[in-house]
Amino acid sequence: MIFATGNDHKVLEAKGILSKSKFHFESLKDIGFTDDIIEDGPTLEANALIKARHIYNIYQKDVFSEDTGLEVAALNMAPGVITARYAGPQKNHTDNINLTLKNLNGKKDRSAQFRAVIALIYRNKEYLFEGVVKGRIATEPYGKGGFGYDPIFIPEGYDKTFAELGNEIKSTLSHRFRAIQKMTNHLNRLKVKV
Ligand code: IMP
Repeated sequence: MIFATGNDHKVLEAKGILSKSKFHFESLKDIGFTDDIIEDGPTLEANALIKARHIYNIYQKDVFSEDTGLEVAALNMAPGVITARYAGPQKNHTDNINLTLKNLNGKKDRSAQFRAVIALIYRNKEYLFEGVVKGRIATEPYGKGGFGYDPIFIPEGYDKTFAELGNEIKSTLSHRFRAIQKMTNHLNRLKVKV
């Protein structure tokens, strides 16, 4: 399969999650695809499908893609579908984190969730899988691991951010892990031959 992402962090996490399974994938970098895919859909589901279909139409190979949003309750589930460009088109992680913290300033409810949607095209059929991890937004960034909003996201049951907890723990409870698990369970049910 191809994992239709240009994000090295996502590739690394997904490789770790799938390392003990029978499922393996090639990233866009592995297959030499370096173009930008315009993600202009109105939802995470639409954007995940845009990426998977784009690559499927070129390569005609089984493919999955993934789109993630941070959904903050006190911000009416924003940034949601615009998570990557919350603070502007420069898609800068520090700017995005600072804007999230600023918008939450003075709000009591800091609950939030990461929601990942995977679009899979397998044997020319489309499937969607969702993975959610609930948690809360820290009052300032902590930790150096992970990527994106990880320094301000504290998953439920922990008192440290994803960036502090590191990939080993993140990959056992993250939104991405949960969505990938649903996809592999589904492929197992289809008795996929790899
Ligand atoms: P996309 O799914 O690549 O469009 O990512 C949307 C935004 O969410 C980007 O700003 C990413 O950096 C951020 N993001 C995606 N996955 C994670 C994650 O696992 N932790 C923290 N931020 C993430």
